[in-house]
Amino acid sequence: MPATAALDVAALRADFPILQRTVHDGRPLVYLDNAATTQKPRVVLDRLAAYYGNENANVHRGVHVLSAEGTEAYEHARRSVQRFLGAEHAREVVFTRGTTEAINLVAHGLASFLEEGDEIVVSALEHHANIVPWQMAAERTGARLRVIPVLDTGDLDLSTLDEVITDRTKVVAVTHTSNALGTVVDLAPIVAAARAVGAAVLIDGAQAAPHTTVDVQALGADFFVFSGHKTFGPTGIGALWGREAWLERLPPYQGGGDMIDRVTFEKTTFAGLPAKFEAGTPHVAGGIGLGTALDYLMEVGMDAVEASEHELIGYAEDRLGAVDGLRFVGTPRKRAGAISFVLDGIHPYDAGTVLDRLGIAVRTGQHCAQPVMDRFGVDGTIRASFALYNTPADVDALVEGLATVRTMFG
Ligand code: PLP
Repeated sequence: MPATAALDVAALRADFPILQRTVHDGRPLVYLDNAATTQKPRVVLDRLAAYYGNENANVHRGVHVLSAEGTEAYEHARRSVQRFLGAEHAREVVFTRGTTEAINLVAHGLASFLEEGDEIVVSALEHHANIVPWQMAAERTGARLRVIPVLDTGDLDLSTLDEVITDRTKVVAVTHTSNALGTVVDLAPIVAAARAVGAAVLIDGAQAAPHTTVDVQALGADFFVFSGHKTFGPTGIGALWGREAWLERLPPYQGGGDMIDRVTFEKTTFAGLPAKFEAGTPHVAGGIGLGTALDYLMEVGMDAVEASEHELIGYAEDRLGAVDGLRFVGTPRKRAGAISFVLDGIHPYDAGTVLDRLGIAVRTGQHCAQPVMDRFGVDGTIRASFALYNTPADVDALVEGLATVRTMFG
């Protein structure tokens, strides 16, 4: 069993109370469903309790001390997101409910610039959250959806870029890392092709943010979105980063309090960034919790996280590759987070159910990526997905669990 490089994973595990619990008759929990959601370190849990127990107030509009403290904590969290993403300005960070809402916000806004005949490009690896909002925008405007195809390896077929991204392309929306297959997409040529035709670029970073250093300047895109709950923060919160010039151009997404400058019955003028996109009372605790989670990650060091997970994923690929009757769905050139596979003659749901009884949490099914399943000709897969606190022992438990599955169903 190799030691994981660069990180003291045992010490990290102690930061996550839920990892100490047992399930089903006292079995230790082996949590390998991190692509669905990640567990929360104690600093995040404590911060949420402290906020509600000691600081709770509505933000941005009170003169009293609690409101001032709450506002400062919420805006501090925005600056943590800014630092985590390498963004130039905190005002380029908009809090949303998560990746899904962030993509809907951008798709809704960009739709106001789309016309019949324009094209929106996504990839064949997308989560439904990065397909459906664009389809809705296309339907409203007469624009057309085009798709960068995927190779059998699970890598995108970049040889098609010249054909798919053309001067009709107005938007390119691609995932950084596939939740279904674990593919890390080679974004540079896609962003370059989009830039060359003047298209706006959105990167779905939901599965990248927990695993790698994100630098929105280096990525060269216009929008980057991710979810708090997949990045060791609370549910119901996430963030959109957008280039200031684009955020200034986009219309508001929702109307209400906090996003206005002046309201009369004749006309309303809107607040500046980022308030323009944050109508209503925000998820203050969520924002603060997310900021705390990102502060924690930055302290651990995302380069170390990436190196450690890279080693663990390699170990998992080797061990799973030796399991009788196991077939990987996707063998991408570069992988992060997730490994998808099927077992000959055994339904993923049955395998997942047996693994659960053994204390091993994996995800089975289509992973909100039905086009990916169609492309690879499977109804669903078993997906093991890793995070900074997983160990080679977790992989060993999974491999042993799969042997039990085979004995029961094989
Ligand atoms: N995009 C990707 C790549 C995802 O993996 C997910 C969630 O699984 C989403 C978008 C949607 O995220 P959320 O449900 O947190 O909005």
